[in-house]
Amino acid sequence: MRRRARYAQGMVCFTVLASGSKGNCTVVTGGRTRILVDAGLSCRELFRRMQLAGEDPAKLDAILVTHEHQDHVNGVAVTARKLGIPVYFTEGTHRAWMRWLMPRRQMSYAQWLEAAAAARQQAAARQAEAVASEGEPDEGEISAEAAAEPEPAAAEPAEPAKDPTWLPAVEYFAPGEPFRIGDIAVSPFTIPHDAADPVGFVLEAEGVRMAVATDLGYMPPNVKEQLKALDLLMLESNHDLEMLRDGPYPWSVKQRVLSRVGHLSNDAAAGFLEEEYDGQAAYVILGHLSESNNLPDLARVAAERALANHASLLANRLLLAGQHEPLHPIYF
Ligand SMILES: [Zn+2]
Ligand SMILES: [Zn+2]
Repeated sequence: MRRRARYAQGMVCFTVLASGSKGNCTVVTGGRTRILVDAGLSCRELFRRMQLAGEDPAKLDAILVTHEHQDHVNGVAVTARKLGIPVYFTEGTHRAWMRWLMPRRQMSYAQWLEAAAAARQQAAARQAEAVASEGEPDEGEISAEAAAEPEPAAAEPAEPAKDPTWLPAVEYFAPGEPFRIGDIAVSPFTIPHDAADPVGFVLEAEGVRMAVATDLGYMPPNVKEQLKALDLLMLESNHDLEMLRDGPYPWSVKQRVLSRVGHLSNDAAAGFLEEEYDGQAAYVILGHLSESNNLPDLARVAAERALANHASLLANRLLLAGQHEPLHPIYF
């Protein structure tokens, strides 16, 4: 494949460390930049899996968060602090995340504004510092060097004592407004899910386009619009409808999963792949499979059938992301 030859040095790489309701985390490398999409594992487990996958945690530049559900943010604070790297949220997700960490502290709007302003100030100071030391101002860019000097001992005095929401730096983005983290261009898009301000991402580096679309109740037009001309598509295939209906979940939870702000079923994922997907991606990864209401074979067969309509032999290699071990790294 032309692209493979051109990027044989592994300049672009996508590694799913975990996917599912017990934790989600993916490492995306583009050029000199390496980011995490979600950090839903404990920091210790996240580092362990990175090492299993041949990735060096010390080289991470940033964490990008899709939404505040625990399976996506469990290790965010500890990982960001340990590495001294910024966390990218939407404002709504950051706020919900802070509430999740401090459920007893009733944060007034004024208090929240204050906390958010402080977080922004820290981020600005950090950016100014990076620019001063780099001499290469590039808006929104996290310099690899700046991020790779984790001096936790020096950073700690600034940390408000025992504030569980403290982060080395916070960056806000808005759905529909593309931005850059170093060599990776990020396009966040709104997804229908029962969280404060949930998003999926299209990530582009070196001309390679990769999308992450999990945790969505259905496929609205804006999402379908984003999932075009991709080289890699990671799509939710959460549950088998019959298994969910007959399964162990209480009725209220079943309702939530099935709702328009719940999770995508095998059938819904397959429906998209069969009818609307353009068939261009080299890899299609099924993710966020339920361990109670799905079987890998059911998800795989549904997607295989759907993809059979797309004639290309080179494209649409189907992979299933698991909960318990990393998927092998995908290089472009
Ligand atoms: Zn999730
Ligand atoms: Zn979720």
